[in-house]
Amino acid sequence: MDRISWDQYFMAQSQLLALRSTCTRLMVGATIVRDKRIIAGGYNGSVSGSVHCVDDGCYVIDGHCVRTVHAEANALLQCAKFGVPTDNADIYVTHFPCLQCCKQLIQSGIRTVYYAEDYKNHPYAIQLFEEAGVKMKKVELDYLTLDTKHQEKTEYVQKLLNKLETLERDGEEIHGLKKQAASLFE
Ligand SMILES: [Zn+2]
Ligand SMILES: [Zn+2]
Repeated sequence: MDRISWDQYFMAQSQLLALRSTCTRLMVGATIVRDKRIIAGGYNGSVSGSVHCVDDGCYVIDGHCVRTVHAEANALLQCAKFGVPTDNADIYVTHFPCLQCCKQLIQSGIRTVYYAEDYKNHPYAIQLFEEAGVKMKKVELDYLTLDTKHQEKTEYVQKLLNKLETLERDGEEIHGLKKQAASLFE
């Protein structure tokens, strides 16, 4: 049995949170971690009790949706609300933080920003993180490690393809299907 790494575990948590996002423009999740423990989580969404982008559409000003509080900010604010210190904590985000979130993370004492996907990585955000000594580390989520039936699925598809090969004379098409299966399962 392969044990999931801490990085994969926390990033998967952020990915799960992103699924709760209420803004259709981008689904982001963030998890704040201290001493290998999750202390807060957030996703981008409207202020509590207000209408959601998914229901009423985005409120766009100058090309940005102004309705939502960003995932990183929501996670930090959860700490503020319940009095949980964020000093020397780390954050796992699905996307590289925007400039506003970058500044808030620095001010909150976050030490490392783990992100899964590049997202308009602003040069000034990178500069600010570097000046503040905040580390930036890319951690791509390996979805296959999260799938407990991965092995069975791979073997099943392999079996189907082999069976198909014995029935079908068009080797070209089977070859294409095999290549597609390999890209999905490896
Ligand atoms: Zn929106
Ligand atoms: Zn942001």
